[in-house]
Amino acid sequence: MTEEQTSKPRPESFELDHTKVKAPYVRFIDTQTGPNGDVISNYDLRLVQPNENAIPTAGLHTIEHTIAVLLRERIPGYIDCSPFGCRTGFHLLTWGEHSPEDVAKALKESLEFIAYEAEWDDVPATTVESCGNYRDHSLFTAKEWARDILDKGISSDAFERKVV
Ligand SMILES: [Zn+2]
Repeated sequence: MTEEQTSKPRPESFELDHTKVKAPYVRFIDTQTGPNGDVISNYDLRLVQPNENAIPTAGLHTIEHTIAVLLRERIPGYIDCSPFGCRTGFHLLTWGEHSPEDVAKALKESLEFIAYEAEWDDVPATTVESCGNYRDHSLFTAKEWARDILDKGISSDAFERKVV
């Protein structure tokens, strides 16, 4: 490798062996400290097994909109939760540090709401004004996948099943 290649920054998740993990799980990735001492934490919220499953786009999109509110209510310092391009889960950012157990419990409660309680009016921002692809939502798909994820259980460890 050239000097330029070895010094290129690489996202941590590119180093993760995706064949070794056992989804669904919450994985603490790392924290980063800003110039003023503020700490931001990164988490891998893996909902389905990599390279075996992928949540269809419309369902993932509806889960994304809905958990943006549900996780914000449950996790102090919530910043953002965005889907992975591989459609197997989400990347969560928060101010401060939270245990993977606490994040897994918040995720579990949020998916329980989607699976068993949510109605269409509970999905925020589904209009042409408020979403970049408002036609591509499915609460039905979101519910079916949320049930499946909950049936398997959400682990607070990526490599060993520690279901919360
Ligand atoms: Zn949208």
